[in-house]
This record gives sequence, C-alpha cells and structure tokens, in this order.
Amino acid sequence: MDMQVSFLDRLFESGLLIDTGVDGLYGRSGEFEDVIAAFERLIDRTGGGDGAEAIRFPPGMNRAYFEKSGYMKSFPQLAGTVHSFCGNDHDHLGLLQCMEEGNEWTKEQKATDIALTPAACYPLYPTIAKRGPISMKGGLYDLQSYCFRHEPSKDPARQQLFRMREYVCMGTEAHVTEFRQTWMDRGVEMMKSVGLDVEIDVANDPFFGRAGRLLANNQRDQNLKFELLIPVTSQTKKTACMSFNYHQDAFGSKWGLNLEDGSVAHTACVGFGLERIALALFAQHGLDTKLWPENVRKVLWG
Ligand code: ATP
Ligand code: ZN
Repeated sequence: MDMQVSFLDRLFESGLLIDTGVDGLYGRSGEFEDVIAAFERLIDRTGGGDGAEAIRFPPGMNRAYFEKSGYMKSFPQLAGTVHSFCGNDHDHLGLLQCMEEGNEWTKEQKATDIALTPAACYPLYPTIAKRGPISMKGGLYDLQSYCFRHEPSKDPARQQLFRMREYVCMGTEAHVTEFRQTWMDRGVEMMKSVGLDVEIDVANDPFFGRAGRLLANNQRDQNLKFELLIPVTSQTKKTACMSFNYHQDAFGSKWGLNLEDGSVAHTACVGFGLERIALALFAQHGLDTKLWPENVRKVLWG
C-alpha cells in the first residue's frame, strides 16, 4: 500500500495525474495523454493490418442492454448507473431544501436509461446481433471507451474511470482462440518493445460473493482468462495491464450472435488498460518522458 500511495503522490506532484478529491477519479496532464495516444498508435500499427471495424461508444450504455448482460449477477459491487432529477417545481424546492439542510438528496433521483459502461465491449454484442448473421470469415471490432468500476483505491493503477482499448473477435471456436493467442504474443512483444518486463498468467474476474468463487475457479480451470502482468507499484504483486478473454459461446447465446451457417458464434476479446500501461511506463522509465530511453521514445514517437 505504501508504494502505491507514494507513487500516487509523485504522480500528483509531477502533475501527470490531477487530484479530484475522489480516490480513483483523476485528471490527466497533456504529457500523460500523449503517452496514451502514442501507445494507441503502437496498437494501431500492430493490429491495423487485421481490418477490424472501428466503433466508438460513449462511456454510458443502454441500461436495458446492461441489465441483459448479467453484469449485476456477477459484479454488482462494481456497477454504476446514471440517475437524474425527474420531478416538478414542487419536488425541486424539496430537493434544494434537502441540500440546504445537508441531508441525503440523491435518494429522490430516478434511474435514467443509461448505465455506465463497465467494459468497452459491452455495448458491442447487442449492436452486432441486430445486424444479423456474422460472416463465416468472422467479425473483428476495434473499440475504445472510458469504463466505470466502483473500486475506489489509493493504487493509481486501480481507477474508477479509465480507458480500455479492445479488439473483439466473433467466429468459430478455432478462429477466436487463435485470435486470442495472436494477441497474447503481440502483447508481449509490444511491451518488450517499450522496455517493460512482462509475464502472462491465468486469471479470473472479480465475481461477487460466495457463488462467485465457484465461477472464478471455473474460469481459471478452463483457462478462459489470461492477464499480461507488469510491475507498476510492486515487483511481487504485478498489475494486469492487458487481459485476454475467451467467452466460449456464452455471449453468442445470450445476445443471439449467429454465424451464417446458423451456429452460435464464439467470442473473445483482448483489452488494453491504457492508464495502467501509461503508469507502467512512468514507473519503469521515470516521470519525465523526455528522459525515457531513446529506443523506447523511438517506438512511441518515431
Ligand atoms: P483486476 O483483476 O486488476 O481488477 P480485471 O480482471 O477487473 O482487472 P478486466 O475486466 O479484464 O480487468 O479489464 C480489462 C483491462 O482493463 C485490465 O487488464 C486492466 O488493464 C484494465 N483495468 C481493469 N480495471 C481497472 C481499473 N480499476 N483501473 C484501471 N484499469 C483497469
Ligand atoms: Zn478489476
């Protein structure tokens, strides 16, 4: 924890991250953003030849899709929903009075049709399902979104609003598992090219509660999730900076994603945690990008 706090303090002092008074909710400096932009160009150069369809969704998604996704079954502790004032003049007066008195005023807020996006790929599945059958050659999509997770922390690498760049592949089992393996290999190469020490390990999602432990064990036993780990605040407890997920046909069945031959599509996604990657670079090479090793600067900025 101390290492995390001291790294966070150094990030604040240098101005790379800007304190908002809420753990995990930070502003970013131009220099911080420049690292993310440069790393995204490296992603583009690496994956650009695959012909993925680029789609950008805002950081909020249709609440009906969010509900259908089952997120509240698995990760209720992380979810965020958008609520708004929906009352009349009279209610407004009551609201202002409540705030004036320093009382809890948000209880009267009503849920809107928007939930905060928990992972960049969540809005994609219903969108692709609506288009009809997927070509036997498969579907490949390039996504990036701010994501929300309610996990306040002093660890700068655990934020509540952060960006995830993702490639999502839909197709046969063989196709999507090969896609995932390709990106595990590429991920390792990319990180090495910017001077980061990496390691890949099997992982699980933070499923909620007692039933969640079973789901997590099952996910590990079946090798459904791998993470690319890089030291950020600790050499022993490394940080997951990419994840490689194989959903089997779970999302295909849930959303009605079918291939042209009528079979249910298998899906896989690879996610880059953009803030975590930037933080790993700052932790490894120092807080001033001008002083980073020449070979690393060359890969990022040419
Ligand atoms: P962790 O085990 O560290 O909580 P996760 O399993 O929840 O990670 P994923 O759901 O696979 O992570 O999300 C994809 C990627 O998004 C992660 O590999 C990571 O790089 C990034 N990420 C996840 N949660 C956060 C967070 N709270 N802050 C910053 N980046 C995150
Ligand atoms: Zn997490």
